[in-house]
Amino acid sequence: MLSGPDDILRYDYDGLVAEFGRRFGKGEYHAGALFRSLYRHGEPDPGKLPEFAANPSLAEAVRGAFGYRLPEQSGRAGDGVTYKFLLKLRGGLESESVVIPMRQYKSLCVSSQVGCKMGCTFCETAKMGYLRSLDASEIVAQVMYARHALKEPIENIVFMGMGEPMDNLDNVLQAVRILSDQRGLNIAQSAITISTVGHVDGIRRLARAVSEPPADDSHGSGFTRLRLAVSLNAPNDAIRSRMMPINRQWPLAELKKALLDFPLARKGDFLFMEYVLIAGVNDAREHALEVAEYLRDLKACVNLIPYNPGLDATLGRPEKEGVAAFYHWLMEAGQYCRIRGTKGKDAMAACGQLGNRELKRKPKALA
Ligand code: SAH
Repeated sequence: MLSGPDDILRYDYDGLVAEFGRRFGKGEYHAGALFRSLYRHGEPDPGKLPEFAANPSLAEAVRGAFGYRLPEQSGRAGDGVTYKFLLKLRGGLESESVVIPMRQYKSLCVSSQVGCKMGCTFCETAKMGYLRSLDASEIVAQVMYARHALKEPIENIVFMGMGEPMDNLDNVLQAVRILSDQRGLNIAQSAITISTVGHVDGIRRLARAVSEPPADDSHGSGFTRLRLAVSLNAPNDAIRSRMMPINRQWPLAELKKALLDFPLARKGDFLFMEYVLIAGVNDAREHALEVAEYLRDLKACVNLIPYNPGLDATLGRPEKEGVAAFYHWLMEAGQYCRIRGTKGKDAMAACGQLGNRELKRKPKALA
């Protein structure tokens, strides 16, 4: 993917300033100029910046040290409106990201890993197994590519691509730090959602990060406004453990404790709960009532996602009427919810459909 000897996209603003000090004996004047130019305009060449005009040898040294260029696209599929793109990673693997148009802007669904360890039975990514985690630069690169190569007006990020973000939280948080920096891409943290399978340790770690007040000199807001989504997907432990192995480690009661402890920044903020509706598995009226009961004392919005079939799907997609019925049952029980459109379904770009099956057949040594 990235060519440079040391990939610049891994550094947050302060990290880049420190790196400039260490390597070149320079400070924020030069590092900050490069950070702004790179993220705001997609221009990584210090030689083009007035701050470097008086010092061409410094520009040359910086170019040599970082050598950044945009990642290379290795595939694309979609209906032209919602589409996924694949980027080449070091070592021959690929990341997958999905561009999703919203009303006034676009959202990017990013991957945090190639493959996934979680093993959810209904998810295509699980079928390829776990290959490796992405580092912060490989996460940020997905957004850089969408903004600067595809020229998409990305203003919203969801960590709902391949992988379990809580299984790679340090890199995910470093990526969030970079993406939300006002001196760079400037994506509001309230427009960044981390979605988890229900990894309770990760939720608790994230809660601690979210509670920490931002540093005085920070140009972001710490992590206080970051959004959390949880893939609930089932009304009780028996069904959830069959669908999602993580539930055997952290059953619903423990998940709920962690969610009750999760700090919501402002009045009116809420948790997102994803619920994949699978015909005959979790879509009955009694299931809706159980879900409403489970969520009663949480401030949550349920996103209903009709199951998207994978390549060799054996599970059933509910009819439109079934989805509407579940929606009404939840709402009548006092649980706010909404139905998520399934954009990108025919291009294997919708929820749960990411994961290039070709990779599965490649030797593990690539990982
Ligand atoms: N591992 C994280 C991030 C992936 S998000 C998580 O589990 O939240 C992917 C979302 O798509 C999850 O909410 C998941 O429940 C949902 N999903 C998985 N397979 C699906 C499928 N076949 N159809 C519809 N949604 C699916």
